[in-house]
Amino acid sequence: MTVLVFLDPAHPAGRLADAASPTILATDQGVTRGDGIFESLLAIDGVPRKIQAHLDRFAVSANTMSLEIPAAKVWQAAITTALQAYAGATDQAVVKLVATRGPEGANTASAWVQVSEISPKLAQQRAQGLDVIFLERGYDSQIAARAPWLLMGAKTLSYALNMAALRYAHQQGADDVIFTSSDGLVLEGPTSSVLLAHITDEFGAPIKRLITPHLDTGILPGTTQGALFAAAKSAGWELGYGPVAPADLLDADAVWLISSLRLLAPVNTIDGTEIGTPKIRAELSTELGELLAKTL
Ligand code: PLP
Repeated sequence: MTVLVFLDPAHPAGRLADAASPTILATDQGVTRGDGIFESLLAIDGVPRKIQAHLDRFAVSANTMSLEIPAAKVWQAAITTALQAYAGATDQAVVKLVATRGPEGANTASAWVQVSEISPKLAQQRAQGLDVIFLERGYDSQIAARAPWLLMGAKTLSYALNMAALRYAHQQGADDVIFTSSDGLVLEGPTSSVLLAHITDEFGAPIKRLITPHLDTGILPGTTQGALFAAAKSAGWELGYGPVAPADLLDADAVWLISSLRLLAPVNTIDGTEIGTPKIRAELSTELGELLAKTL
């Protein structure tokens, strides 16, 4: 089932809409230009997870593209209304927040919350891991500072190329993608952050080190990576931000694609090269998965 709640000044708690009926004008710039922003978050037992981190990032995305959206408390109220109306088959649900630039000529944002079922494929990815390929993203790692109009680091509705990259990977027999910059750095997945772990240093001594690509590369700041880093720090992990090169991933003891809905999915192979060993991948995924679960 899918629940839709529109943010509407005449309805302070949000206006429930029939998800099976047309609700958006064909002239909405979210539809005609992909001009808008979104967030996807996980709800467990009707409670949205990392809500503040998502609302904060949503506000940054809106600000990046000069889009006026309703205040955080209005979103909170609509999320509550939507989750109360939702009666899915499982304890988990996907909560999507969407804001567009609205119909052409109107200059008011269209804004809504959607709650729907979570794909069973995500649990499968967590359990079985992923075969991934590197694909070029088409820009260098310094572009964000030079070209603010590219909206780097904002979660915009323009995900067509992210989805195209996934389709391309599937055609090659892979499950997912890690994007690289034109100057040879690891960026992110089309719908995930990248994380690598080392459990021994260059001399073979035991360590616990997690690394993720630097945010200056224009990637989306992952709320899941942020939450995991906070939990891992308390558990004695050393944390680092890139630069990360493709060779660093191939050399890691484990690599994951990490996001709000899939949580932590271990990468089994990249371009056919196995990452670590099945035993180390499984042990580290369990350890970090338990840390992440505590943050949910
Ligand atoms: N990077 C991209 C491009 C994404 O689309 C996502 C999530 O959809 C992420 C990273 C991970 O973000 P989060 O952990 O906040 O879900």
